[in-house]
Amino acid sequence: MRKRYNDLNTYFRSLFDCRVQKITVDAGLTCPNRDGTFSTGGCIYCNARGSGTGAFDRGLSVTDQLLQGKDFLSRRYKARKFIAYFQSFSNTYAPPDTLKRLYEEALNVENIVGLAIGTRPDCINEPVLDLLQRYTPDYLIWLEYGLQSANDKTLKFINRGHDVQCFKDTIQKTVNRGIKICVHVILGLPHETKSDMLHTAQTVAALGVDGIKLHLLYVVKGTPLEKYYRRGMFKCLEQDEYVDLICDFIERIPSDIIIQRLTGDPHPQELVAPQWALKKSETLAKIRSTLEKRNSWQGCKK
Ligand code: SF4
Repeated sequence: MRKRYNDLNTYFRSLFDCRVQKITVDAGLTCPNRDGTFSTGGCIYCNARGSGTGAFDRGLSVTDQLLQGKDFLSRRYKARKFIAYFQSFSNTYAPPDTLKRLYEEALNVENIVGLAIGTRPDCINEPVLDLLQRYTPDYLIWLEYGLQSANDKTLKFINRGHDVQCFKDTIQKTVNRGIKICVHVILGLPHETKSDMLHTAQTVAALGVDGIKLHLLYVVKGTPLEKYYRRGMFKCLEQDEYVDLICDFIERIPSDIIIQRLTGDPHPQELVAPQWALKKSETLAKIRSTLEKRNSWQGCKK
């Protein structure tokens, strides 16, 4: 059966000829949108863990986390190679020497074939880009930048602390270095219309990025968004609504962009709403069957 979108596992297999899994790393870094440099509140949907695992606070080094991850993922998926995914907070937000030590600690672990580094578009500079570029002849290097929405009014509302132009400027600084670029987008942000979200799809399509992660907005305990939600100020997307939007989005992005994620992974104990966000396999199956029913595929409406 024809693949209707360009998925991450197929991409990894084409490069390494085996199953490759990402291992999440918490390097103990922070974020300028939380430490007071830009703001202390953070993005309205972010809790104090900053999407992290808390592994650093439990005393686990980068190497410890990678060894544990390798052990688990090689048994579960028979993975043979691994990408160290620096996920928690902003992973380019430290002096270049500190980052070099952390990245190289990861790259020195056996069968780590690359890095994926999650960060903000206003949190990168030439020395860090130069450092990452130096790894590219030997390793697969992905920089994952959060955009979330290509609408400035939404970015302001969610307290991102940067605008769309900042994101575009950062992409320009990153291209042509051998570093792969992944953009993060959230669907269902407060007060966004379908037309706003499709505008984000069109903007992403024109950026020349290599990958995308699409996330559902879900409400997590202890966030400003939780208060907003409990006051009845916005509603979460229904599952079928999300599936339709995801398919609309996939149809509008170039067929060579690697789709690394199609929904989020909320922590069950921290999730406030929507509860269907916990049904990841069901949501992915619905996305595949909707594309089948529409007889559409990635890029068909670009
Ligand atoms: S940039 Fe990331 S870590 Fe920082 S406040 Fe926003 S979501 Fe949280």
